[in-house]
Amino acid sequence: MHPLTELGITRVPCPVPFPEAGGPVNVYVIEEDGGGVALFDSGLGTPAGEEAVQEGLKALGLGFQSVRRVLLSHGHIDHYGLAQTIREASGAPVFVHELDRNKVELPGEEFQRSRAAYDGYLTRLGVDRSAIAMLGKGQRYTLTMARAVEKTEPLLDGEQLRFRHFSATVVHAPGHTPGLCCLHVPEHGLFFAGDHLLERVSPNPLLEVGPEGETAKFRALATYLKTAAKTRELDLELILPGHDQPFHDHRKVIDGLVSFYARRQGRLLAKLADGPKSAVELVQHLFPHVGLRSLYLTLSEVVGNLEVLEEKGAVVMLPAEPIYRWRLA
Ligand SMILES: [Zn+2]
Ligand SMILES: [Zn+2]
Repeated sequence: MHPLTELGITRVPCPVPFPEAGGPVNVYVIEEDGGGVALFDSGLGTPAGEEAVQEGLKALGLGFQSVRRVLLSHGHIDHYGLAQTIREASGAPVFVHELDRNKVELPGEEFQRSRAAYDGYLTRLGVDRSAIAMLGKGQRYTLTMARAVEKTEPLLDGEQLRFRHFSATVVHAPGHTPGLCCLHVPEHGLFFAGDHLLERVSPNPLLEVGPEGETAKFRALATYLKTAAKTRELDLELILPGHDQPFHDHRKVIDGLVSFYARRQGRLLAKLADGPKSAVELVQHLFPHVGLRSLYLTLSEVVGNLEVLEEKGAVVMLPAEPIYRWRLA
């Protein structure tokens, strides 16, 4: 038998219609003590997503009504989108970390509330009005692929979760989102990573301006790198990621990412040697062939790396209105 099957774990990949996610999203079906199953992530709330989860459960002789708990790694639509549907069919409680709760419970309201804060911030990064409108439209569209979860329960850092064949510890791993949580099974060296560790794509710590705006801005990449350094210390046999196949050697993946970001930072520093630049000017330099459709991702990369460089004391932001510029320190 497959070692994961022996532990009562089945991976169900679900289609995701955006390539930057890094492949199908994984729903992990885990046998519960006393019958039924828990899900780690729910998949996307599209008809294709729902069908994939239903088929995955059916292959195990189960259905939505067999689900006892839904545990969410984080508040992105491909991970929580189907949770409300499963909750309605099964009565299963849905768990998510406090810091990602609004994304899951109030995706529309959170989007509306943060809209003004985002628009102001994007303007200061050098994004023009038409591109800002397009980004808003894109986000509204993605929200149609997920249903808000009526009520969630908190997933707590350090909490022990008992399943039929093992216990797991909840590990809060902020970076990709503020409230992302992984499950660590020390006894078997397993790590359910959500989007904290992905083998083939960078986990895209995304620009995150809360409803309060920039004052409480989440420094996604700087936070991510600190979290990843802690994950690197863990002794892990197998990573069960949020997308694509399980993989080994998390240290190699983390080291690869750290040097990837270091190269990006090197290119930013080289460009800033010509003089101060806005975030959008740096996006055009680093990603000359990447279209507007990916602007949110490319901006997240540039701003994330600039924030890391700021923390290192290598660059400073010139907060001149209306557009911020960064220069070498
Ligand atoms: Zn994600
Ligand atoms: Zn994802």
